[in-house]
Amino acid sequence: MSKVPIAVAYGDGIGPEIMQACLHILQEAGAEIEPHIIEIGEKIYLQGYSAGITPQAIETLRQTKVFYKAPITTPQGGGYKSLNVTVRKLFNLFANVRPCISYHPYVETNFPKLDVVIVRENEEDLYAGIEHRQTPNVYQSIKLITRPGTERIIRYAFEYARAYGRKKVTCMTKDNIMKLTDGLFHKVFDEISAQYPDIEKEHWIIDIGSAKLADTPEQFDVVVTLNLYGDILSDMVAQIAGSVGMAGSANVGTHMAMFEAVHGSAPRRAGQNLANPSGLLNAGIMMLVHIGQAGVAERIHNAWLRTLEEGYHTYDIYREGISREKVGTREFAQAVARNLGKMPEKLTPVRYVQEGKNPARIEIPPYQPVSLPKKELVGVDIFVHWGPGSPKELAAKIQSVLPPELKLTMISNRGTAVWPETMEETFLVEHWRTRLLSQGGPIRHETILQALQGYQKAGLEFIKMENLYTFNGEAGFSKGQGE
Ligand code: NAD
Repeated sequence: MSKVPIAVAYGDGIGPEIMQACLHILQEAGAEIEPHIIEIGEKIYLQGYSAGITPQAIETLRQTKVFYKAPITTPQGGGYKSLNVTVRKLFNLFANVRPCISYHPYVETNFPKLDVVIVRENEEDLYAGIEHRQTPNVYQSIKLITRPGTERIIRYAFEYARAYGRKKVTCMTKDNIMKLTDGLFHKVFDEISAQYPDIEKEHWIIDIGSAKLADTPEQFDVVVTLNLYGDILSDMVAQIAGSVGMAGSANVGTHMAMFEAVHGSAPRRAGQNLANPSGLLNAGIMMLVHIGQAGVAERIHNAWLRTLEEGYHTYDIYREGISREKVGTREFAQAVARNLGKMPEKLTPVRYVQEGKNPARIEIPPYQPVSLPKKELVGVDIFVHWGPGSPKELAAKIQSVLPPELKLTMISNRGTAVWPETMEETFLVEHWRTRLLSQGGPIRHETILQALQGYQKAGLEFIKMENLYTFNGEAGFSKGQGE
């Protein structure tokens, strides 16, 4: 077999020692890989590269298409951009996959049967980072959810479940509140899940769903969710499994994939041969499956389980009475390498190779655009910075300057409708949404420009507008609370 080129970064803090330990195990196990070392992280940030990576390193990633990454240190202070977010966005790594498993009784946990994979959408949602300060007191962050992005991640979750013999996919959203964005995610989940009759599916509202997940994780299998919820859930589940330090994660896209430990560079532990390399090793195992070397991955995974069973434990999981010996990073790696070819006796052995075949790389078909709905402009929300004053006064100002095609139908403040009905108790800030709707049929952009000119004439400082559309007659905008 010819060696597969992979980009390798040793990172910062404990990064170099755990990467060395992992590469030692991979090589001992017979992984056919050719590491291309790239430098990333603190040093590169301090050289003036704001994302901690050089253009040459990006070129290496582009060529190898596989990135095995140790944790890095992000220097304190402003101006530095997340390397992970940069690589994810540059290479369209849309899926973050994090298997979280309990290794009871060898690693302490309240959930001995926990075995959950979190599949998190990796690019959209509030992580678009589109934020504004609009008035002295009001800031916003825009949550963007797309149909192609949603279809891709949900299909990925189902394909993952099939490839790894998992039985159920659970979707979590907050679509009772965010009816359009989270609503789309839920709707697409229902559409796509229907194409996988062999896999059980369910949907939970994220609040009670995450409570359930924290309470009875053994009832969950694969969980698919939006970016922010997934970020929180994946750390939570890794932690209750026993330790964030044990979990690996894969960031997967159509053209490239990045594999890393879940934890950071733990600078206080650096250079002391103390750190647990298990998180990075688990990431390496996922990488080997990804590059078609599932047999090697299986050997390493089973040897690692055997080592946990034998009680050779790094300080973070060492427990008097359960562990046999407290070992350092190097000694732990040597113990795993010695166990290559052995199977765990108590923990369940893993099997990646089924009937002599590697699990197929998960391929997601290109997005097939659905037939485009009829989109009609029916109004506009104009946001204004105004006050102090009452909603009634604001309404009167607006009504005196509107073009005849538009009618003021609602004013809301922080999302709560405060006009035409106003409740004295509602707290008001200087940021108002004024909703103008067509008086019959679609309107033209000129009408919106006339409305804006009217606002200007009335001395209203408009800070933002959102056009209101219908799609095949269905409103593409939410109502105000209490509207
Ligand atoms: P951290 O995960 O590095 O460390 C938290 C604590 O967990 C440490 O004090 C240590 O006791 C323990 N720990 C972590 N990994 C361990 C291991 N392998 N073995 C044993 N113990 C381990 O989190 P932090 O202290 O918040 O962050 C430190 C630095 O890492 C920061 O600069 C942060 O930006 C960076 N970071 C990088 C990544 C990444 O590269 N993907 C992820 C998270 C944090």
